[in-house]
Amino acid sequence: MKDFYKRTWAVVDLDALQFNYAQIRAHLPSSVSVMAVVKADAYGHGDRMVAQTLYDAGVRSFAVSNINEALNLRRHGINGKILILGYTPPEAAMELVENRISQAVFSAEYALALNEVCQEKQVRVNCHIKLDTGMSRIGFCTEPTESAADAIARICCLPGLNCCGLFSHFSSADAHDDSSDAYTKLQTERFNAIREALLTRGIRFDSYHLQNSAGIAFCSSESFDLARAGIVLYGYAPSHEPLPFALRPVMSLYSTVSMVKEIPASTAVSYNRTFVSSRPMRVATVPIGYADGYPRLLSNKGSMLIRGKRAPIIGNICMDQLVLDVTDIPDVQMGDTVTVVGRDGLEAISFDDLAQPCQTIHYELMCLIGRRVPRVYQ
Ligand code: PLP
Repeated sequence: MKDFYKRTWAVVDLDALQFNYAQIRAHLPSSVSVMAVVKADAYGHGDRMVAQTLYDAGVRSFAVSNINEALNLRRHGINGKILILGYTPPEAAMELVENRISQAVFSAEYALALNEVCQEKQVRVNCHIKLDTGMSRIGFCTEPTESAADAIARICCLPGLNCCGLFSHFSSADAHDDSSDAYTKLQTERFNAIREALLTRGIRFDSYHLQNSAGIAFCSSESFDLARAGIVLYGYAPSHEPLPFALRPVMSLYSTVSMVKEIPASTAVSYNRTFVSSRPMRVATVPIGYADGYPRLLSNKGSMLIRGKRAPIIGNICMDQLVLDVTDIPDVQMGDTVTVVGRDGLEAISFDDLAQPCQTIHYELMCLIGRRVPRVYQ
């Protein structure tokens, strides 16, 4: 049996992934290692292949959002350090230890619960202390500095926890207006204040990390030894701010023309007749829909590429299909490849292009590419 048939599929360009890693590596000082953020199935690219490719390129630490993602990597033989950035039920402590997985510890309550299970089982779990420097999500408060440091110092003494990292997360490092710059500076200052206060209490961590992709691109890496690279690995800038290094998009998305037909004027297309032809048209049906992660919000807005030309989407996008206007593209026929995201001749469509009319960000659209869309690695 073939692995898959070409209906709709994503091509993941592993050379581009390696190229992006090399660019990030070259941009960072040699004292800073890259932690590859491979959560959410490596932003939809396939976490096992992405992690293995990056491991082969020299990456030795990975970040995921939860224990299921971490175990999935281990089950498939991914070596290197793995840090869970989010919540893990404390009762899973043994699983963390057995699989050499590190856990973010983000509150005293969580630390005590995790420590209790570790003590019961007579194990020690590796932890990175997460600070809330300005996102107000998970993380220890950082102010006032001295009492925050006291609270964290007590956690570091818990016998079931081996606290080897201190980290936080930027909120607005991708934006460069005055207020965002000031906020990024404030977050960095809060981080450094806690770091210093813990050092004066004799607590030093093996690793300190604050930078995400935007932090890597735009902030100083001085005083950090890890940087968590997510979106830049996949070939996209975190925002519209130009980056100081080049990237290549890793994922392209393709589909196939399933039928071409002529329709007369005044013909309704797709559910609820949101498009009615004003002239005779040639239309092509394409087997991709919102169940493949292609946003329905692009109904009557988006376009795709066929034979190097742009074909507008007409009518509502269905669960598994949509319709393109190919009146102005000669010779379109069943079986033609449709470029949904990627380049065809002089034309190109990026996840950014799709995100804008959906009023969202490229991150979300990448992650939403459906599980039924096969990933083809090249
Ligand atoms: N670190 C943490 C804690 C995150 O939540 C994320 C992404 O959401 C990242 C790093 C990576 O961010 P980016 O993809 O912008 O590099």
